Amino acid sequence: MTTSDVVVIGAGSMGAWTALRSQRAGWRTTLIDAFGAGHPRATSGDESRILRASHGADVFYTRWSREARTAWLAFGEEIGETLFVPAGALWFAHREDGFEGHSLATLTSMGIPVERVEPAEMAERWPQIRADDLAFALYEPEAGLLLARRGVVAVARAFTTLGGRFESGWAEPGAADGRRLLDVVAGDGIRHPAETFVFAAGPWLPTIFPAVLGDLISVTKQDVVFLGPAAGDNRFGAEALPCWVDYDAAFYGLPAVDGRGVKLAPDRYGPVFDPTDGERIVDPETVRLARRYVARRLPGLIDAPVVETRVCQYETTPDTHFIIDRHPDFDNVWIVGGGSGHGFKHGPVIGSHVVSRIAGAPPGVEEERFELGRARTFQQNMRTGAQVRLD
Ligand SMILES: Cc1cc2nc3c(=O)[nH]c(=O)nc-3n(C[C@H](O)[C@H](O)[C@H](O)COP(=O)(O)OP(=O)(O)OC[C@H]3O[C@@H](n4cnc5c(N)ncnc54)[C@H](O)[C@@H]3O)c2cc1C
Repeated sequence: MTTSDVVVIGAGSMGAWTALRSQRAGWRTTLIDAFGAGHPRATSGDESRILRASHGADVFYTRWSREARTAWLAFGEEIGETLFVPAGALWFAHREDGFEGHSLATLTSMGIPVERVEPAEMAERWPQIRADDLAFALYEPEAGLLLARRGVVAVARAFTTLGGRFESGWAEPGAADGRRLLDVVAGDGIRHPAETFVFAAGPWLPTIFPAVLGDLISVTKQDVVFLGPAAGDNRFGAEALPCWVDYDAAFYGLPAVDGRGVKLAPDRYGPVFDPTDGERIVDPETVRLARRYVARRLPGLIDAPVVETRVCQYETTPDTHFIIDRHPDFDNVWIVGGGSGHGFKHGPVIGSHVVSRIAGAPPGVEEERFELGRARTFQQNMRTGAQVRLD
């Protein structure tokens, strides 16, 4: 087996982009995935993911998400595929001083297009949304959704087109020499030696490194339902309806794309989940919550049937910041993950960041948030925070 410069384990958004960036940097790169790119067990394997700039007062993720947007758009153009749907994103604010108010100030100060929309104006622009209980809405016209599964498959394909090697199989750390890992062993016993290893294994990271990550990444079941609008009802497609996030009500959704129905998800943590063997059947309670939500917010969907369901998983760190750091026992092993419900869009920037760290760049001050050894206190600010009950 020839030695690679870099072996990346995991072809989700984080690993596939890291492999592509690594191959583009001129390093001989091997990408290994247990089930292939864009498969239904992967966190990146869903049809769609929101790409938004709003991150409250956090300038760092706001900047990263803008860089990621540029990278996804450029990549889509390069390969001649539509991966980004420019639907925009609406954030429903229940109070003036919440996540949305902070996002409005941050985006404005950074020159990112953003609008404050009052409830009366909401009723004119998006009559399919009931907004009479809101303080205001924040509208990001340049946000939208990424065709996630398709995107990951395209990145992995671009990687192999550039000469990168893609292997299938469950990979585990193999032989070591002091603080250097020498190889990983894939399912069939084949050894893959390399100078550097990147484990971008999403929700499987705590299984691979239980001592290091067992307490740091929680893997929970997350149900998603798709409601099908009536034939000819165009109010809920991406041309008419933005992605939306009801941050304080811990609910979010995406417009219907590719005729798949309107996607809705309660953003509460589900039970602990096994990403390999877990049965991907949604809890009827999720459907009940989704129906209760649309009755309040999108009444035109009250009678819409469930046309599809999906079970994904969060791999959440206590403070919802990613993990991008060296393994504490190995100088040439990187751990990349902890997407915490907001990691997909950042794939291209995470890939660039990992490659620059492998090349020897120190983390910037803001990037110290990704460190493994840092004390992390519980907060779920990068996703949503359930503060309002919608009945
Ligand atoms: C319901 C839901 C909604 C979300 N919404 C958004 C959103 O709107 N916007 C956003 O940006 N993010 C969102 N996220 C988060 C985002 O999807 C994740 O942060 C991101 O997809 C994680 O990517 P990853 O590459 O780390 O992991 P994954 O996509 O899970 O990829 C890991 C890969 O590693 C492989 N693997 C694991 N172990 C091994 C091994 N030992 N050997 C070989 N291969 C292995 C797996 O097969 C898998 O393909 C959401 C997540 C969920 C669950």
